[in-house]
Amino acid sequence: MKLSLSNGLFSKLSLDGNFAAVKQLGFENIEFNMKSIRKERDTDVYREQKALVASGLKCLTLHSAILHVKDPIEVHQAVYYGKISLECARALGVSLMVVHSDVSKKLPQFFRERCLTEIFNDEIKPFAKSLGIKLALENLSYTSTGFGKNVEQLEEVLNVIDKEGEMGITFDLCHALETKETDNLLEKYGSRVCNVHMANKSHVPFTEAKPELTSFLTKLHGYGYDGPITLELDHKTSMEEIAKSKALFDNLLK
Ligand SMILES: [Zn+2]
Repeated sequence: MKLSLSNGLFSKLSLDGNFAAVKQLGFENIEFNMKSIRKERDTDVYREQKALVASGLKCLTLHSAILHVKDPIEVHQAVYYGKISLECARALGVSLMVVHSDVSKKLPQFFRERCLTEIFNDEIKPFAKSLGIKLALENLSYTSTGFGKNVEQLEEVLNVIDKEGEMGITFDLCHALETKETDNLLEKYGSRVCNVHMANKSHVPFTEAKPELTSFLTKLHGYGYDGPITLELDHKTSMEEIAKSKALFDNLLK
């Protein structure tokens, strides 16, 4: 397993300052969160590419910009966010992109299916395929405005957008602990996990080997997982706490 840091927590800094903060903490790998970009403009992907090369960091995954569509009229915006994120992933040489369902949990099921089809099947999936980028659907928390917090909801989404069974899963442990779905999600998707978002509840960092953490890592190892362990932390987390969490995972992942 490879330790990585989501740079979303430094989204208030300039891009160079963001990468510098990641390096200062001693991380080699990042998940590039599109939150780090204040305004998505197509040609900005060259700026991101330059900054990443200059930093010497390796970008393992990219977290798509996301819109949880509340009305079908917003589909175009969600498609734009998804496509500009894919362009950025291509510029950064990333082959795995984290996606949410992109639909609001308040949408009625009929519209949910229509929006999922129009966003993913008609637009995002073919574009991702043409770029050779794999998509990995993330489990959400009950606090999210999006749809997809448990096996039942994720299955509904996957039955629409992943009839081929090619999509990966981004396992967010913070969300799974908050919804008490860790075991159910692992049982169903353990062998499909290709990225892990790592934090305790409320995106607080783990700084000691709590039983729920070690049991999760042991089970994940049992599924043969050797992908990224991406620390995804609240933006208020102090540099000291991040450093402590990094030291813990450097040790646990040995
Ligand atoms: Zn996450």
